[in-house]
Amino acid sequence: MASPRVISTISELRAAVRELQRTGKTVGLVPTMGALHEGHLSLVRRAKSECDVAVATIFVNPTQFAPHEDFSKYPRTLEADLQLLATANCDLVFVPSRDEMYPPDASTYIAPPQVAQPLEGVCRPGHFQGVATVVLKLFNIIPADRAYFGQKDFQQALVIQRMAADLNLPVQVVVCPIIREPDGLAMSSRNRYLSPRERQQVLAVSRALTSLQEAVGRGERDATELKLQMQNTLRAAGIERVDYATIADPMTLSDLARLDGPAVALIAAYVGTTRLIDNCLLTAPTGSPQDDPAQG
Ligand code: AMP
Repeated sequence: MASPRVISTISELRAAVRELQRTGKTVGLVPTMGALHEGHLSLVRRAKSECDVAVATIFVNPTQFAPHEDFSKYPRTLEADLQLLATANCDLVFVPSRDEMYPPDASTYIAPPQVAQPLEGVCRPGHFQGVATVVLKLFNIIPADRAYFGQKDFQQALVIQRMAADLNLPVQVVVCPIIREPDGLAMSSRNRYLSPRERQQVLAVSRALTSLQEAVGRGERDATELKLQMQNTLRAAGIERVDYATIADPMTLSDLARLDGPAVALIAAYVGTTRLIDNCLLTAPTGSPQDDPAQG
């Protein structure tokens, strides 16, 4: 289990990647903010399975945090992160300083695509401008063949896919499944903020999503009814501060009133002072449940 090579400057990283590509190696990129867990490692493993070389980046990107958000207290666990990356056979890790990524005179930002407008776009104005800018910078610094993102951040993955298509970026954006704790909680660097009591309470988020999938499996198509059901599950667990618990078109994220095709359920809620997000795809089976014995 070799430790990954750690690089902190853009020039050194560019030279390393150029050398790899000169020898015909394909490169998979996994951008992260560190405080790594199995969710991040699943992206690195996927990159390693599809590319010759995996490059992870660890950078807590200041431009995607609003002034009142948790930028300064965001967990920074570099030593543990490097050990975890070694277990996933990551080859290179880019750990730039803030000034390396944003010299004091930098002033250019990306206007994110339309799909950045609803949901997180409403609750966290400016967030996706910061995300799109840093990801485009990383794509320019590391000309990867493929870049790996988690479905955990569903809207973020859409924003990046759309940006890559709109700006003709020569990178294939790969979206990977959500990795969960055994009890259903979606893994997140922010889970470590939760007190033992909140850690129990938060299970209502993933439970609200699985109950929804079950209701859809039983034939419920009324999205308004399904949204109410989600909100009730959250409220019953004492989760009162819900930014959204909604059902949307998985391509455009526009709100759905009925499930007649593919849909995604998305939740953003505060458990204590910790804001967590989760989602699941809802595939409404065609035909009524009575038509399909497999639906039970
Ligand atoms: P972050 O460090 O939170 O910015 O996340 C870096 C990448 O890891 C993003 O593409 C996330 O969507 C992805 N990710 C975070 N949590 C998970 C998870 N539980 N399962 C799969 N991917 C994840």
